[in-house]
Amino acid sequence: MDSNKYPIERRYIDRRSNVRPGTRLVTGNPAFFVAHDTGNPGATAEAHYRYLDRQTERTASAHVFIDDTRILEIIPTGTGADPAEQAYHVVRNVKTDNELYGYDANHAALGIELCFGGSIVFAAAYQRLVWYMGLCCSKWGKTPSTHIVSHRQLDPARKRDIDQALAVGGKTLGDLIRDVTAEMASAVRPAPEAAKLPADVRDHVIVSYIQPARHAALQQGLQEEAAHYERLAANVRAAAAGAGLPKSNAQEIIYSWLSPAWFAAKQAGGDAGRYNQMANALRVCAGIPLD
Ligand SMILES: [Zn+2]
Repeated sequence: MDSNKYPIERRYIDRRSNVRPGTRLVTGNPAFFVAHDTGNPGATAEAHYRYLDRQTERTASAHVFIDDTRILEIIPTGTGADPAEQAYHVVRNVKTDNELYGYDANHAALGIELCFGGSIVFAAAYQRLVWYMGLCCSKWGKTPSTHIVSHRQLDPARKRDIDQALAVGGKTLGDLIRDVTAEMASAVRPAPEAAKLPADVRDHVIVSYIQPARHAALQQGLQEEAAHYERLAANVRAAAAGAGLPKSNAQEIIYSWLSPAWFAAKQAGGDAGRYNQMANALRVCAGIPLD
């Protein structure tokens, strides 16, 4: 997967016993991931940061808030340099987390909150959530179908998240898990490899055009012009080795030599097509659309 698709912002709330006890997860790295939504339509990641940074009464928090423009970690998760800490995102007296994973969620899991509703664009927030969960599963060798659990699954008597927020965008928990799995499998798009200039085109261009032009320049005492043709020949050799060709070089060769040769061959009833093929080979190497 592409681990640089979105930036992760880290702006931690102060350590305080009711929101950020400052204790490491008992498992070191996160053992599973609890999918939450904020239950607060229209409230952004920034709004939750401000709220929790000031909160002194309620014992409740989560590690990361994701909206349509940012992924904001407010308690260390371990995705960056700071080791994962505990947060309070699932009430302690539920037993489901212990049965499924052997730990209280607050001691071993990350609480990941999706912001939704109001002016928050669902698709943009959802894509960030999918990517973030994929990154976490990938980093710690977890499987989305077993290591992502919704708050509702852990505490069905009291909670409806993350399902209620996913429903805003017509998604289900099953969709989320499938999308995270697909995100993890998606390849990073590699930089396109430059096409190699065919050796016969390289030889023809250098021997028939560039070397005679260099020779003529030297005979006229035009040292700079001769040096230009030497660089041009070097670039054409490099293009045959797969290095690509500067656009200006391709254009110069086409306009100075191949186009006139094409025209002359056409007038004489000869094989004009080969000049067109050579021009196109140069265009491909230079990333110029074909004529
Ligand atoms: Zn929740």
